Amino acid sequence: MFGNYTIAPLKPNQIHIIINRILLVTNILNAKGAIVATIGPSSDKNDTIEKMIEEGLDIIRLNMSHGTHEDHKKRFEMVRNLNDEIPILFDLSGPKIRIGQLSSSVILKKGDRFTLSKDEQSGEESKVSVSYPELIDITKMDQSLFLNDGLLEFKVIEKTDRDLVCEVLTPGPLSSRKGVNTPNIPIQLYAPTEKDKKDIEFTIGLEPDFYSISFVRRDQDIIDVQNKIGQYTSEDIPLISKIEHLDALDNIEEIARQSSGLMVARGDLGVELPPWRVPPVQKMLVNTCRTHGISCIIATQMLESMVLSSRPTRAEVSDVYQAIVQGADAVMLSAETATGNYPIETVKIMNNIIRAAQEHVKQTSRQKFNEISSISEAIGRAAVSLASGTEVDAIITFTRSGRSSMMISKFKPSQPILAISPVKKTTRRVRLQWGVTPLYLEKDFNDTDQMIYDGINFAFQEGYLKRGNQVVVVAGSLLGLPTSTNLIQCFNVNDIINSKEALERFTQAYNLDIDQNNK
Ligand code: PEP
Repeated sequence: MFGNYTIAPLKPNQIHIIINRILLVTNILNAKGAIVATIGPSSDKNDTIEKMIEEGLDIIRLNMSHGTHEDHKKRFEMVRNLNDEIPILFDLSGPKIRIGQLSSSVILKKGDRFTLSKDEQSGEESKVSVSYPELIDITKMDQSLFLNDGLLEFKVIEKTDRDLVCEVLTPGPLSSRKGVNTPNIPIQLYAPTEKDKKDIEFTIGLEPDFYSISFVRRDQDIIDVQNKIGQYTSEDIPLISKIEHLDALDNIEEIARQSSGLMVARGDLGVELPPWRVPPVQKMLVNTCRTHGISCIIATQMLESMVLSSRPTRAEVSDVYQAIVQGADAVMLSAETATGNYPIETVKIMNNIIRAAQEHVKQTSRQKFNEISSISEAIGRAAVSLASGTEVDAIITFTRSGRSSMMISKFKPSQPILAISPVKKTTRRVRLQWGVTPLYLEKDFNDTDQMIYDGINFAFQEGYLKRGNQVVVVAGSLLGLPTSTNLIQCFNVNDIINSKEALERFTQAYNLDIDQNNK
């Protein structure tokens, strides 16, 4: 049960919420894909984050592959103190192989020799250790290794017990701790690594909204992360599996079943696979997410040129646009906002592209799902179908876990989905669901009618609905039974806010002057 029945006060700096409300009230639909932005040295300041939120940032990503625990804690607390409605995702590094410390950064030329070694740094410019020493044993002569996000290609030309001497086939820059990709070499490394476990142990007390797991290869990896989290909390923290390894593609159905979402991690995926195979895989992964009713994030190099330039390339604009049209729930910024020169402008441009793409989603993205696996999914589909055949302005759902809103979001309605929840964490997490606007109503109900009356009144009072709006409501009936989503009702907002009974309840509950607001 939830104690007080109060309206959570708006913080003065939550301008984005006000903007969203104005947009809704003026009927510019807020049905849009979410923006995930990575926070790093160029953006970890209060005013930068505040402005990024104003420009449309929805979710913050903190990447555990870079920085110390203290850096992450500082950034986490900064965001939470600034705005406790923005969800935060910790991205676990997973079993990514990296080179060790180089004595100095180097620019390698075609034909140069470079040695990967089991031994720690020797001070030599052309030799470096690797974080997975077994790589030296299992790599064969003539095999290819890719470094620095695939920029460099090495071929093994000599092998000893401790070293792989390589020839540089594709030249480029190399600096300490860069990643090593090894397609076709059977690596026995799985998430969570010892580092991931320490990272979970450190971050769990901060109460993150999501974890993403890098280099997931099989469903067991996700179960192992769940078990690790289970040592510290009984809470079900949503896990996003990063798809960047070939094994993950073979096991995608099992992985999707265990995950709350998939991230198309195109950086590493485009090294593990030839880059031109990434677009069809992206399309397949978006569809997998929609079939499973889980979220899909498209990541990496979306507006890469904006690391240095204040304008994106036309190709990048098209990439973001197409990702949304395909049905991605979210698009992600990495270096653009973590280390780039234009973090705020990048978010603004991404938001403009997403809004432009939404028009197209409405027309083309209504996929038919033949397989419906639960009542709540069937209700979600029926609600979207009902809304699309009539003059409906919003779909409202009451949800504790965010599952009901996901079951509506999955069918990409053209109307905004208003997810009313008494659980603060749920209101943060549903921001990853396409087209969902959360509304925190801190009250537990034991009467379905009252929940609907009060919810609609509250949404009206808060500016999310206006007079004359037609709404479809999706809820679970509250008969004191452990039911989940099982009903759909349609209302005109006028009928609710003009209802004497509702007004009485609302007035008593909030101690607000409703008549004043209804004028
Ligand atoms: C990627 O490889 O595309 C990715 C998102 O992972 P990371 O940023 O951790 O390299």
